[in-house]
Amino acid sequence: MSAKVWLVGAGPGDPELLTLKAVKALAQAEIVMIDDLVNPAVLEHCPTARVVPVGKRGGCRSTPQAFIHRLMLRYARQGKCVVRLKGGDPCIFGRGSEEADWLSEHGIEVELVNGITAGLAGATQCGIPLTLRGVARGVTLVTAHTQDDSTLNWPALAQSGTTLVVYMGVAKLADIRDGLLAGGMRADMPVAMIENASLPQQRDCRSSLAAMQHDALSFRLKSPAILVIGEVAAEPQALQLAISA
Ligand code: SAH
Repeated sequence: MSAKVWLVGAGPGDPELLTLKAVKALAQAEIVMIDDLVNPAVLEHCPTARVVPVGKRGGCRSTPQAFIHRLMLRYARQGKCVVRLKGGDPCIFGRGSEEADWLSEHGIEVELVNGITAGLAGATQCGIPLTLRGVARGVTLVTAHTQDDSTLNWPALAQSGTTLVVYMGVAKLADIRDGLLAGGMRADMPVAMIENASLPQQRDCRSSLAAMQHDALSFRLKSPAILVIGEVAAEPQALQLAISA
């Protein structure tokens, strides 16, 4: 194999949501560098590869990005087939493109492999149609966490008419609520908070914009979770009626 790094999305957690292309890349990998959010169950597809954990969850001990870059480069220059495995999709809040650019600049061939991103997976697993016809004209993926502490354009988001899917929002619920309320979103806008999407321990807490922080506390919502904010978070109506009947 010539020096090549595969930047592969491992999907949201359920190992059956891996793509066939991800499975093929894993099968030929000699080195697999994985993030914390990757379900170790997917490693059954690379039984002989050396697995190198390089996770860095917010607030925990972290592997600096520069170190990850250098490590990928070192293995690739040794002629190893390297798979860099990331939760969800490598390019959705995943630094996949930064890593791809850096490797390309250093003469390493890179192939990006899609994964199902957690926000889309979580919504669908909970029966929430993010772009329900006649209700939501689109979907906006946002992160509540920024490196430079810059704020989001809350009025634009509040008035976009799209469903908002918020990543990395668990610790920022009050800021998100205050920003969207100040931006003009109605207080009773439905919200779904989906923890461990697609895994057996998935939990789904339904609330409203005004109540979401309070409800998340009583629910003991923990990361990883995504928030779905918008009319569609009241779906599936029929199912909920059936459950409460
Ligand atoms: N590249 C990843 C996102 C990484 S950012 C993707 O495409 O999914 C990390 C954030 O993703 C977490 O803070 C959380 O908001 C979300 N996330 C990842 N896996 C999740 C899961 N199984 N359930 C809910 N949210 C998840």
